[in-house]
Amino acid sequence: MSSVEIKKIVKAIVTSDGAGVKLKRSIGTPEADYIDPFLMLDEFGSENKDDYIAGFPPHPHRGIETVTYMLEGEFEHEDSIGSKGKMRPGDIQWMKTGRGIIHSEMPAMSGGKLLGFQLWINMPAKFKMNKPEYHYIKNNEIGVYKDNDKTVKIIAGKFKNFEGPEKNHNVEPIYLHVLLNKNKEFNFELPSGHNSFIYLLKGELKIGNNKHQKINNSTLVLLKNGINLTVKSSEKSEFLFIAGKPIGETIARGGPFVMNTKEEIIQAIEDYKNGKFARY
Ligand code: FE
Repeated sequence: MSSVEIKKIVKAIVTSDGAGVKLKRSIGTPEADYIDPFLMLDEFGSENKDDYIAGFPPHPHRGIETVTYMLEGEFEHEDSIGSKGKMRPGDIQWMKTGRGIIHSEMPAMSGGKLLGFQLWINMPAKFKMNKPEYHYIKNNEIGVYKDNDKTVKIIAGKFKNFEGPEKNHNVEPIYLHVLLNKNKEFNFELPSGHNSFIYLLKGELKIGNNKHQKINNSTLVLLKNGINLTVKSSEKSEFLFIAGKPIGETIARGGPFVMNTKEEIIQAIEDYKNGKFARY
């Protein structure tokens, strides 16, 4: 069976979003604009509160799903469908914005370390104007596989006897958070046709069978389509492995709105301006 090999190594770009929150963006950059169905991947956070304290004040979204995964620190979330909650380390917020949501994400801490990820998954045209849905998944509701070599948190998809909470999803997402001890191996069998990538947070990895350059921290590794993924650690490593079935539609981006055409972006901006946005 075909092995999964590296397509491209992309160093995350330091940028800011919201009211000036410092983050490292890897997908959604000129180097990796759209890895169908994934539109954006941000690693946010810092040990310096000035880098995150202003948070993400109220802003709209349309046409996408945002998956926020907190690793350290706390965030308070509030949105236009009346959801409100505090995200603690290990928690997930899976939001299907559909036709429109207005939300804010503000740090609920006065100092200390903040670390988390936000992934944007595209929605197919037939779902883009659905009513928004919001899933809040607590750390202790997520399956964790452990053996002597590794710990794998199953945020989406299946691994061993565990399955993530997002079932029957149109892109069949796989989202694993893997901690691999030194000189150990992680293997995964992928559904054929899925696009996939690894985001290395810490450590050093050897991916696939081919020789490749050294991969540093905060690096995105885009993978070629294949079935058998082999990841070896030359030191203790921590990474995300994410995959999904491509949607295959044209996209038009307009900041927090992602639709299929420019006209639909203009419509989204108009709906937002006219207060017709977050009505269901
Ligand atoms: Fe947002």
